[in-house]
Amino acid sequence: MKHNVDINIDYFDRHLNKVRRNVSLACIFLIVLATVPVAIARAVDGWDINSLLQLISTCILISVFAYVYSKGYVKAVGIIIYCVDMVLMSVVTLDPQGNELIVLFFITPLLVAYLFFTPRYSCLVSICSYAFLSTLYFIQYVDVGSPSYHFELVLLVLAGISSIAGLHVVIGLRHSIEKKLIDVAHTDALTRLPNRMYFDERLTQEFSRADRDKTPLCLGLIDLDNFKLVNDTYGHECGDSILIQVAALVDESIRAEDIACRVGGEELAVIMPNTPIEEACETLERLRITIRDARFPWKSYLVSLTVSAGISEYKAPMPKDSVYAKADEALYRAKQQGRNLVACADINKLEASA
Ligand code: GH3
Ligand code: MG
Ligand code: MG
Repeated sequence: MKHNVDINIDYFDRHLNKVRRNVSLACIFLIVLATVPVAIARAVDGWDINSLLQLISTCILISVFAYVYSKGYVKAVGIIIYCVDMVLMSVVTLDPQGNELIVLFFITPLLVAYLFFTPRYSCLVSICSYAFLSTLYFIQYVDVGSPSYHFELVLLVLAGISSIAGLHVVIGLRHSIEKKLIDVAHTDALTRLPNRMYFDERLTQEFSRADRDKTPLCLGLIDLDNFKLVNDTYGHECGDSILIQVAALVDESIRAEDIACRVGGEELAVIMPNTPIEEACETLERLRITIRDARFPWKSYLVSLTVSAGISEYKAPMPKDSVYAKADEALYRAKQQGRNLVACADINKLEASA
């Protein structure tokens, strides 16, 4: 399994979704506030296609507001707000009783795109929506024969470029940078595995999932045996290289849904969702044998080493803190019994070393 912090945890998106929930509520509220008085004023003069579209849009937005308020933000909400905003902007731009100042509001669909879509999509969507609305504006307000025609055209294009560029820098690039920073904060600099911070966050998440789905969850702790000896014999640089290689081997050997993290100096953890302890013991036993049989190259040497592991299983409603402690106890037992062993908490199983 190749590790990817973004894919595994969606930490950033989960937090961003909370922000998006509040932003979408505010957005809908403001759009409805701006639309309803206009729709009512027009309806008084008699219904036409414009007022009907405004009424339908308002009803959709109110339903979406109720949904987001009770259930939270989902991707479709951003798309709906964007589409409704585009319909409203088009209707108001083409309104024969409208005002040229509508051009000032062309930024709203762009803002909606940057708030709810990824930076790349937002940029593309913004260019398309601005080009579309500008075309409607030209049809409605600009006289091709007028002397100021070229001037207005240039002004509209420049306003579009500066709006999109500004939004891209302020919202789009910042979004990407924040995502990268969270990725860095969750990744161990030496092994490139997720680090302790990520591990804690992910384990909490997996506990909740196990509670919700009523599935077993196992935690394995792996400690390199006599690693100090490797450092003392071959040097610290070699120790670092071995750590990197062992981490990569562990990461490659586990299932895609398992998560390997570096939780200490020469200590790794494997979170195994939806896995009973017997299966987890077999997995780590296979891993132990793989590492025992591997030869890790460093300069002209082929270094061999072993690992010990402790495993515990989480079953609701046991205290979550005890899962790590039990795996650690099992690991301690494996070390006490001579290393190169896998020990399982509770079921008193100790895989024989070979
Ligand atoms: P045991 O089998 O009891 O675990 O013995 P051990 O020597 O592995 O354990 P001990 O706790 O005595 O020593 C851990 C060693 O791991 C000492 C430390 O220098 C080394 N170590 C921890 N982190 C790193 C690292 O990032 N790079 C290198 N090269 N060595 C590390
Ligand atoms: Mg050790
Ligand atoms: Mg250790």
